[in-house]
Amino acid sequence: MTVRNGEMRSVAVVGAGVVGLSTAWHLQERGIEVTVFDEAGPAAGSSWGNAGWITPALSTPLPEPAVLAYGLRQLLRPSSPVYVPPSAVLDPGLAGFLARFARNSTSRRWRTAMDALVRINRHALEAFDKMVRDDEAMAGCLHEADPFIVGYTDPAQTQSLVDEARQITDAGQPVQVDELPIDEARRRAPMLSPEVRATLLLRGQRYLHPPKFVAALADAVTVRGGEVRGGVRIEVVRDRGRRAAVVGKAAGGAGVAAGDSVDFEADAVVLADGAELNTMASRFGVRAQVRAGRGYSFSVPVERTPPGPLYFPVSRVACTPLGDRLRVAGMMEFRRHDAPMDPRRIAAVVDSVRPLLTGVDLDDRRDEWVGSRPCTADGLPLIGATGSQRVFVAGGHGMWGMTLGPATGMLLAEAIDTGRTPEDIAAFDPLR
Ligand SMILES: Cc1cc2nc3c(=O)[nH]c(=O)nc-3n(C[C@H](O)[C@H](O)[C@H](O)COP(=O)(O)OP(=O)(O)OC[C@H]3O[C@@H](n4cnc5c(N)ncnc54)[C@H](O)[C@@H]3O)c2cc1C
Repeated sequence: MTVRNGEMRSVAVVGAGVVGLSTAWHLQERGIEVTVFDEAGPAAGSSWGNAGWITPALSTPLPEPAVLAYGLRQLLRPSSPVYVPPSAVLDPGLAGFLARFARNSTSRRWRTAMDALVRINRHALEAFDKMVRDDEAMAGCLHEADPFIVGYTDPAQTQSLVDEARQITDAGQPVQVDELPIDEARRRAPMLSPEVRATLLLRGQRYLHPPKFVAALADAVTVRGGEVRGGVRIEVVRDRGRRAAVVGKAAGGAGVAAGDSVDFEADAVVLADGAELNTMASRFGVRAQVRAGRGYSFSVPVERTPPGPLYFPVSRVACTPLGDRLRVAGMMEFRRHDAPMDPRRIAAVVDSVRPLLTGVDLDDRRDEWVGSRPCTADGLPLIGATGSQRVFVAGGHGMWGMTLGPATGMLLAEAIDTGRTPEDIAAFDPLR
């Protein structure tokens, strides 16, 4: 069946992370009624403990020759920032995913994927601006950060980011990276230890407080007349011809008993269920795999909060000021999204930043967290219609779902409302 312009008047969204809620918000902009379901509540998944960087300048495809070479060198070392546990060989799905990832890690494929990402990255800040313009709560969680400070123990290490910035700029996405004398860096961010001997500035980017921002976004969707229903696990999506339905079970609370079944119909369904995207999308022809590149984070007290995020590329650790604490995030671990937290990974992140920071109590950790970067083997998200014109998917943004969630929602809402896929998300066809 063909869906006509303006025919979709109601949409059910599965997943109250940044992607699902942004999609709901932008659908509301078009006058479409939304109901968002989440098995827990807003920001229960990856959208909670991430680094909160809104950095479209750095949003690039993960598969690339340097990442592959680095990954192969580090892969089986438990303390390395990229880790695949030996037990992963028993998971044929993961082995196949990593093989496809490796095949995509060529300069030529990186460039093709980058051309596609440039088009959505251009909308990233505009889509945030629309959402925060009249919303003090959301605006209060989103900060301009001029600049991000990037730190190295050896001045020779800075060249790699300078080269990467040039390569990304050549691909049509301007990145401004400038030298920063180390004394000036220490004046701005006194927590840089004497071990940090060289620094760069990354300009023109933003950061946010992830749990607060996503909670404010959920509130905005509700205030604008939508419903966000936590405690409902959706198990099946059905295309019933003239309507689509989400079917699942309630975990209890707000007038529903645990185990009560839920069967909710709307004109369309959007699957934005993060690392679990394939479970329900596969029956609608989505074959591209989403796999968890798990990351870890925690927060620690700081004597003096830095003016913006700090980045240590060699240990692949991001530090973001969240109120009076510093969130420290890092690690890329390919393993089942629901495997328990591995405390050795937290220890590895702590060990890697301890020599780089001073006036930061790394032993007073709170909110230790593990979450999934929903990664695809070609480094591109999945956004658009599936084999059913009533069932859409939005996910697989890997390292950059916070940055691209609002742009994804804005462009997908246009596709759902008009029945036409905007050119700028055409390359993210979920049926590729
Ligand atoms: C350590 C780390 C640091 C990161 N740093 C950054 C960063 O600085 N900048 C950036 O742009 N990105 C960053 N990311 C990536 C970013 O966090 C993710 O790409 C993004 O949060 C994905 O959002 P999502 O809405 O797709 O998924 P999620 O936030 O995981 O949301 C999916 C939701 O679906 C729900 N759900 C799943 N299955 C069901 C079901 N069957 N029924 C009902 N509900 C269901 C879950 O409860 C969850 O709330 C980072 C990730 C990690 C791990």
